[in-house]
Amino acid sequence: MTRNKLFAANWKMYKTPPQATEFVAAFLPMVADVTADDIALCAPAVCISAVAGAVKGSRIGVGAQNMHWEKEGAFTGEISAEMIAASGCQYVILGHSERRQYFGETDATVNRKLEVALEAGLTPIVCVGEVIEEREAGLTDDVLRRQCTSAFRGISAAKAAKLAIAYEPVWAIGTGKTATPQLAAQAHETIRHEASKAFGKGFAEKLRILYGGSVKPENAKALMSEAELDGALVGGASLDPKSFAAIVHYQA
Ligand code: PEP
Repeated sequence: MTRNKLFAANWKMYKTPPQATEFVAAFLPMVADVTADDIALCAPAVCISAVAGAVKGSRIGVGAQNMHWEKEGAFTGEISAEMIAASGCQYVILGHSERRQYFGETDATVNRKLEVALEAGLTPIVCVGEVIEEREAGLTDDVLRRQCTSAFRGISAAKAAKLAIAYEPVWAIGTGKTATPQLAAQAHETIRHEASKAFGKGFAEKLRILYGGSVKPENAKALMSEAELDGALVGGASLDPKSFAAIVHYQA
């Protein structure tokens, strides 16, 4: 089964709307030749409209980095699935380790958000991954299984059709340390197995599992040559149009 790849930029808390527009103006011509794989720019909430306007007419998608699970309400500072979709998003990152670490995101809230994102027609990119202590204690598979079963709870295969997962070993995010392609592929197999248990074998074969953790132009080719790796979620190296374009062109 060949799956087309997805390269998603996670800009985190970087870029103002004018800076985001400037990025897109430089980036679009660099990736105009990319027709098989998908590209998404997951921007800070205040940049979503600007990015959506700037990518109009191209194949590039727009994503948010988080959302609330309620449709609306008294949740100061939060944004809903409907709001981000109406602002031009097709994608949303859920359960990023920085949200888990600093903002109290749990497996249970990821599950609630996943259900609502799918209902809104968004493509959720659900992040899972172990911290260094868990890897060193041999608990990586247990952690991935727990994060996946919790995230998938109560969601049907039909509803989950657009789901994508990002395997992001926490020790590799923003640290310059990258999982070896083989080590990443093993974790992806565990995740795919969980998806198969939850949604069926056919679903799991089509599921895109991205790798995230210090992906750079220099290591993208080796990582992406593993059949299990269906693209990348890229933080630091996605802030510069040239370096993100080089990752998208990993085969060159
Ligand atoms: C991320 O933010 O999801 C990420 C993988 O960051 P970095 O590429 O900087 O490690």
